[in-house]
Amino acid sequence: MKRALVWLTTDLRLRDNETLARAMEHAEQIIPVICLAPADLAQTLFGFPKMGYFRIRFFFEALRDLDQQLRALGSGLILSLDSPEKAIPSLAKAYQADYVYTKEQVGFEELWVQAQIRKSLREIAVALETVPSSTLYHPEDLPFALSDLPDIFTQFRLALEKNSACRPCLDAPKYINSPEIPPLQIPRYSDLGLQEIPLDPRNAFPFEGGERAGLARLKDYLFGTRAALTYKETRNGLLGADYSTKFSAYLACGCISARDIFWTLKRFEAQVEANESTYWIVFELLWRDYFWFLMKKRPQAYFLQTGLLGSKSQLHGLDPGLLTAWIQGKTGQAFIDANMRELAQTGFMSNRGRQNVASYFCHTLRQDWRYGAAYFESQLVDYDVASNWGNWAYVAGVGNDPRPDRRFNIEKQAALYDPNQTYQNLWLH
Ligand SMILES: Cc1cc2nc3c(=O)[nH]c(=O)nc-3n(C[C@H](O)[C@H](O)[C@H](O)COP(=O)(O)OP(=O)(O)OC[C@H]3O[C@@H](n4cnc5c(N)ncnc54)[C@H](O)[C@@H]3O)c2cc1C
Repeated sequence: MKRALVWLTTDLRLRDNETLARAMEHAEQIIPVICLAPADLAQTLFGFPKMGYFRIRFFFEALRDLDQQLRALGSGLILSLDSPEKAIPSLAKAYQADYVYTKEQVGFEELWVQAQIRKSLREIAVALETVPSSTLYHPEDLPFALSDLPDIFTQFRLALEKNSACRPCLDAPKYINSPEIPPLQIPRYSDLGLQEIPLDPRNAFPFEGGERAGLARLKDYLFGTRAALTYKETRNGLLGADYSTKFSAYLACGCISARDIFWTLKRFEAQVEANESTYWIVFELLWRDYFWFLMKKRPQAYFLQTGLLGSKSQLHGLDPGLLTAWIQGKTGQAFIDANMRELAQTGFMSNRGRQNVASYFCHTLRQDWRYGAAYFESQLVDYDVASNWGNWAYVAGVGNDPRPDRRFNIEKQAALYDPNQTYQNLWLH
C-alpha cells in the first residue's frame, strides 16, 4: 500500500484541490500536514513578523475547518510547529511515506524551502511532487512560453481570453484513507507571543477563515445579495461588506480556488444575469494570475529594491519615525491615516486604500518600498506573496507598470472616493 504525505500550504480546501487529488491518484493512504514555522512568527530583516495576529487568526480558523472536514472523511490534519525543512522529511520518515505532494510555489523563499526539502527527501528515497493549483488558468495552458510572458497586463489578458480556457473544478473527495491522525492541536495566541486584538465594531467584514466560510461568502455575494451585479461600479468603495467581493483572504489561504469562483460565476451568469460587473470579477482574477506568473518568471526580482526593472528610481532609505507614523495612521494626511488605521484594526484595507497608502509611502514619504510591503505582509489577512510584492513594486514604479512614474494625488483621490469624509470620520474619530 502506497502512502503520500500531502504538505498543505496555501491550499486549505477539499474542493478543487489538485495537490490532494494527485496524491490520491498515486497513493492509497494520505497524511495531510501543514506547518507553522518559527520563522513565520519571527521578525524579518524589515522588523515585522511574517504572520501577524490577523493572518494567524484566519489561518487557525481555516485549519480547524479543514481538520473537521478531513475527519468527516476518515482523515485529519497534522499541524507541525517546526519548520517545513525539518518537519516534512521527518514526518515522511515516521509515516513511511512513498511520496510527498505539495503545491507549486513562486516566491523566492518558498522555492528555497522546497529545494531544501527535496534534498532531504532524496536521502530517504522519497520524491517531492509539486502541483500547480494557485491560478485561474493552469500554467500548462498558457498560450505562450513563460519566458515570453507579456510585460503588459492587457496583452496577457487578451492572449488568455482568446487562446486558452479555464479547466473544470475537481470535486472534493468523498472518502480519504489515512493512518490514525492525532487530534489537531492549535496553540493559544499567547503561546506564540501574540496579543489578541478584539473585534473592532467598525469592521464591516470580519473575515472568518475556512473553506466553508469562503464558499458561503461566494454564494452570498452572488446568489444572496447579488452584489456581483454591481461590482464594477462599487469596487472602488471604502465602506461596508459588499463594495468588493472579499474573496481575497479565501484565495490567499486557498480556502477557495480561483477556478471555483470562475465556474460559480458562470453558473450565476447563466441562471441570473451576465453583465460587465460579473465579467470584471474575472478580470481582477486575471490580475491575480498575472502577478503569479510574473513571479514565477522572476522569483527573485520582486524582493529587490530595484524591482523587475532594475530601476534606480526607488533607492530611498528608511526613516523609522516616518514608518511608524504611517503604520499608526499619524502622518497628518487624513485619507492615508484613516486607511492605515483600518488596516491596523482589522487586517484589511480596500484596493483603493492600498493604492493610495502605498503611493504615499513610496512617492510622498520617499521611503524604501519594501518596508511597506513587509508591513502589509505581516498585517494583511489576505497576504499573498505574488499579489502583495507585485502590487507594491507596481505602485513604487519598479514593477511592470508601463507608466512607472505614476503616483496618486491623495487629496484628489480622497475627494473623489470619500467626498463627504464618511470613511475618514469613521476611522479617525
Ligand atoms: C500595495 C498593494 C498590496 C496588495 N496586496 C495584496 C495581497 O497581499 N493579497 C491580495 O490578494 N491582494 C493584494 N492586493 C490587491 C487588492 O488590493 C486586493 O486583492 C483586494 O483589495 C482584496 O479585496 P477583494 O477580495 O474584495 O477584491 P475584489 O475587488 O473583489 O477583487 C476580486 C479578487 O481579484 C483579485 N484582485 C483584485 N485586484 C487585484 C490586484 N490589484 N492584484 C492582484 N489581485 C487582485 C483578488 O484575488 C480579489 O480577491 C494589493 C494591492 C495593492 C495596491
